[in-house]
Amino acid sequence: MKKNIPTLDDIVSLAKRKGFVYPSSEIYGGLAGVYDFGPRGVELLNNLKRSWWKANVYDKENYFGLDSGMFKHPKVWEASGHTKGFADPLAECRECNTRIRVDKELGNIGVIADEKMSEEVINTLFDEHRKEIACPKCGKKNFTAVRAFNLLVKSNLGDFTSEGNEPVYLPGEASQGIYLNFKNVVDTLQPKIPFGIAQIGKAFRNEISPRNFLFRAREFEQADTQYFVRPNENKDAYEQIKQDRWNWYLSLGIREENLRWHQHENLVFYAKDAWDIEYNFPSLGFDELEGIHDRTNYDLTQHQEFSGVDLRYTDPETGEKYVPWILETSVGMGRMFMAVICDAYREDELGGEKRVYLALAPHLAPVRAAVFPLLKNKPELVAKAREVYVHLKKAGIVVAFDDNGNIGKRYRRQDEIGTPACITIDFDTLTDDTVTVRDRDTGEQERVAISDLLGKLG
Ligand code: ATP
Repeated sequence: MKKNIPTLDDIVSLAKRKGFVYPSSEIYGGLAGVYDFGPRGVELLNNLKRSWWKANVYDKENYFGLDSGMFKHPKVWEASGHTKGFADPLAECRECNTRIRVDKELGNIGVIADEKMSEEVINTLFDEHRKEIACPKCGKKNFTAVRAFNLLVKSNLGDFTSEGNEPVYLPGEASQGIYLNFKNVVDTLQPKIPFGIAQIGKAFRNEISPRNFLFRAREFEQADTQYFVRPNENKDAYEQIKQDRWNWYLSLGIREENLRWHQHENLVFYAKDAWDIEYNFPSLGFDELEGIHDRTNYDLTQHQEFSGVDLRYTDPETGEKYVPWILETSVGMGRMFMAVICDAYREDELGGEKRVYLALAPHLAPVRAAVFPLLKNKPELVAKAREVYVHLKKAGIVVAFDDNGNIGKRYRRQDEIGTPACITIDFDTLTDDTVTVRDRDTGEQERVAISDLLGKLG
């Protein structure tokens, strides 16, 4: 039976079994909301980052890369509004103390709610529906009133707290580093507006209920771009950015029917527009993958005010000074990783045998090719296979060597991690320097000269 729609459990189990993602600190019982990327996972993650960086820095003419430090001056999070406003609505079960995120629980029963609603509005909504919401742990319907729960994670760096000051927080989002370096980039590279800055950085959030694998973690990475435009020259650029981001997901091989747009109805006061690209996550349904926000001049104006430093841009031709408007894209690498694996997951039958495989785009696959000697106990085949393996490795191709078990089993092992090509060295190879290359998706094999392998793998 063919199955192209996995459950979330299928994905979590494959990810663990095949060395993509492990729960953090597992030998100590785990740490909720934190994950480790294993040997296969880190390769896929790095390939995704490389692909994102290429699309958002190298393929553009006016985007610059950045890697800012995680720790920032405590005032940054005050200026950005995070110390006061970066909160989710929390209620606690009076029976077993389990905490729920009220907007998400309301969403689960079809009531539209989000974390930007005022405490009063969300409390009223919750009171109207509290009899319909059961505690996920004990099943009782006896919750406290809703309160705002701040998501920033504190650190004791420099021990500011003991002096009565704000602590140094871990970053609640990666984008602040871009705003803080806007002036540095302008002063040192003199880019002309419009231009963008791109960064991939860690974010930490004290999520009330981390769940659904990498979807809602407490530690994660965000890939962000901030595009600086002249005031009121946001509309066309915003549409272009939205289109580019959509197309990028298609270039990863994600099926278009699993993506959709969602426009925010409830905008924060400074925003002009906000759209999410949603992905149809198995067992969860459509949910946010990436946010694309038209943010006006809010971010730089706030930092200008709190720092006292002039963050206006001076037009080199007219001398006009203004605080640029910002168009932001922000996606969690974990959600992207999850969407890519979920979309690539396939179950089918090949040669009368059931198999699971990942139809990953070759540029994303953790292993680009695997090399097998047909028989393990024939030293001449093993030596030739190692020669081919080293030849590909030296050319920079991520390649695996496997001589364990029959060829069918070796194919299945590679299928499950999405290796696009399996190369077998057989007795003909010893006489004519050709090998068989087997295609992951169709199982078809062709004979290829060793000298043509690099061209074939690209
Ligand atoms: P949500 O409504 O799901 O909590 P958000 O609107 O707060 O997300 P943003 O602050 O806009 O998310 O963050 C940008 C992106 O970072 C999101 O689109 C998502 O891909 C990712 N992200 C946010 N929170 C998490 C998390 N807890 N775990 C993993 N990725 C996250």
